[in-house]
Amino acid sequence: MRDPRYDILFEPVRIGPVTTKNRFYQVPHCNGMGYRDATALATMRAVKAEGGWGVVCTEQAEIHPTGDIAPFIELHNWDESDVPMLARIAEATHAQGALAGLQLAHNGMNAPNLYSREIPLGPVDLPVFSIFNDPVQARAMDKEDIRNLRRWHRNAALRGKKAGYDLVYVYAGKLFGGAMFFLSRRFNTRADEYGGSLENRARLLKELIEETKDAVGDKMAVACRISVDELLGEEGLHAAEARDIISHLAELPDLWDLTLSSWDNDSQTSRFAEEGYQEPFVTGIKQLTTKPVVGVGRFTSPDYMVRLVRSGILDLIGAARPSIADPFLPNKIMEGRIDDIRECIGCNMCVAGDHMMSPSRCTQNPSFGEEWRRGWHPERINIAGSRSSVLVVGAGPSGLEAAMMLGRRGYEVTLAEKSRVLGGRLVEERRLPGLSAWGRVADYREGQINKLANVTVYRESDLTAEDILGFGCDHAVIATGSNWRRDGVARYLLKPVSVAPGAEVLTPDDLYSGARPKGKRVVVYDDDHYYMGGVLAELLVSEGRQVTLVTPAPDASNWMRNTMEQFRVQARLLELGVRIITNHGLAAITQQGAEVACVFTGRRVMVEAEASVLVTARLPRNELLAGVKAQMTAQAPLKSVTAIGDAVAPGTIAAAVFSGRRYAEELDVTRDIDAPLFRREVTGLAEGPLPWRTQ
Ligand code: ADP
Ligand code: SF4
Repeated sequence: MRDPRYDILFEPVRIGPVTTKNRFYQVPHCNGMGYRDATALATMRAVKAEGGWGVVCTEQAEIHPTGDIAPFIELHNWDESDVPMLARIAEATHAQGALAGLQLAHNGMNAPNLYSREIPLGPVDLPVFSIFNDPVQARAMDKEDIRNLRRWHRNAALRGKKAGYDLVYVYAGKLFGGAMFFLSRRFNTRADEYGGSLENRARLLKELIEETKDAVGDKMAVACRISVDELLGEEGLHAAEARDIISHLAELPDLWDLTLSSWDNDSQTSRFAEEGYQEPFVTGIKQLTTKPVVGVGRFTSPDYMVRLVRSGILDLIGAARPSIADPFLPNKIMEGRIDDIRECIGCNMCVAGDHMMSPSRCTQNPSFGEEWRRGWHPERINIAGSRSSVLVVGAGPSGLEAAMMLGRRGYEVTLAEKSRVLGGRLVEERRLPGLSAWGRVADYREGQINKLANVTVYRESDLTAEDILGFGCDHAVIATGSNWRRDGVARYLLKPVSVAPGAEVLTPDDLYSGARPKGKRVVVYDDDHYYMGGVLAELLVSEGRQVTLVTPAPDASNWMRNTMEQFRVQARLLELGVRIITNHGLAAITQQGAEVACVFTGRRVMVEAEASVLVTARLPRNELLAGVKAQMTAQAPLKSVTAIGDAVAPGTIAAAVFSGRRYAEELDVTRDIDAPLFRREVTGLAEGPLPWRTQ
């Protein structure tokens, strides 16, 4: 039963002409699916509605080809032909009892228009502010362009109404909503009535809100998403100015949706920001308007949510990532199942999907994005297909997920782990600087497994192939993880590096087990490019060592551009005094240090150090798999042995969790090996006369 302390979270809130059943509000968020995977996207939104969110919004739906954010895959609301796709999402959301919100966007100067080839539009003539520094300039909009934009927006809102939405956005946030470029003193240096004073810079936004209300406001709520700070000091849109703008337009929209700008400030990771990091920026805004206010901050704690509402900071608890990690968060609070909440770990793997134009994945919720194409659900799984017993060896992310989900299916499961603590790689990684929240991946699964009577856990059980074969289970799952390589091989070096006798070489595994470089000067060589190199450099410098990070990539932790953390990692390392040498690969390790070579010229430089820490490739620990396979006989009771997670191919924690889930989903499911792996939505072919066909 629900704790009465949380009753306030389940109060209805009026938003203009509509009312949400509770305060749980899934704010618009991208997902890498958009117009390409519309039914998958609609099903994903429907699952959130099923999980209890009162309002479920789409990601941005571009209102016109002049605001096209290709190559990113968002929604289109360009003309009537997009209405059925938009309607499908609204219908799916309604079917599960939530209000459906549509985020309209004209990306303005953020849109390089790579697909439409239209000239981008902005307040002034300037290069587009796009992520890839495209060689494209926006042109300054004249009065006719502004009139056109207003009409396109109005028409897009009308199409949203036709598609069945309850709420529509006017977007002036995060430098995606084109109206924000007009609000900004940085970008808007116009001399007409759309530039200069705050009133003038807010004119376009005001007109868009007024005209949207006029077009659809009888039936639909009109929300305004606005940035409350760009964190650029006086240069950017700052807190005081944002408050002036909100005061100026206070009663115009039906809802204020508050965000930090740009996206990397809005969706900060746990490595750099705590839950609720936006609170100082949204506090006091509710006092500027009588309209409801929604804000975000990776909220997963119901007590904190209650405080935000009670103290008059927010009316609605906004969430993107917490709703991805646990679409059933509201229902779990309602049912008093707080420890069943799968808390977001703040890793931004979901964001990375969108950045890579592929369906987002979530470290904590492997069913995210798979609701339609594989038929996975965050809370449910098919009952067992047989009365088989399964032995899972290794309790890292993949083994824990497999054991938990096999347990939920009803199999008799044994989970055997070599060490005393469950969590695999997370046992050590959660102790590294900034990664403590990642431990939630293990904690959630261990907590759930403890509730399953049919899953038995054996700790300190270092199993051999003979142990597995003699155990008497029907199926064995090898989830034994991986080891970091010690020979420098990864992407730059495909053959082992030469190491002079006596030179000290360490791997992340050595550091986990407590080993430390003997001398003061250390080279961290990063040819992995995700978090490990940067995190270990941070660890070693914080212990008083002089650290040089060397990478063949153009910057430190290069892949973290996709999680929007790269610049923060680099800034932190520089501030801590880490020397960073980019575009250099490892050539040799000598007694003087690491000899590195420029990736362009091959010119060699010696980086003097007493030790080198190699963050390169990993090798799967698959000896157990080979051993069991070699000794399996037709007479033995073991029906199958399967490796999962890093023991197959070392990857991200998200990939390991996915692998565990997949094993659990597919056990006893017979499938044609050549049948499609998952459902796909193939674009319908155009009808009508075709240029190459003669009548
Ligand atoms: P993944 O990310 O694929 O889950 P991890 O490296 O995180 O992999 O976890 C692997 C786990 O397997 C570790 O906790 C490790 O102690 C355990 N393990 C490895 N070999 C054995 C073994 N022979 N018997 C039991 N547990 C093992
Ligand atoms: Fe949270 Fe990471 Fe999942 Fe994104 S991928 S929702 S940040 S746990």
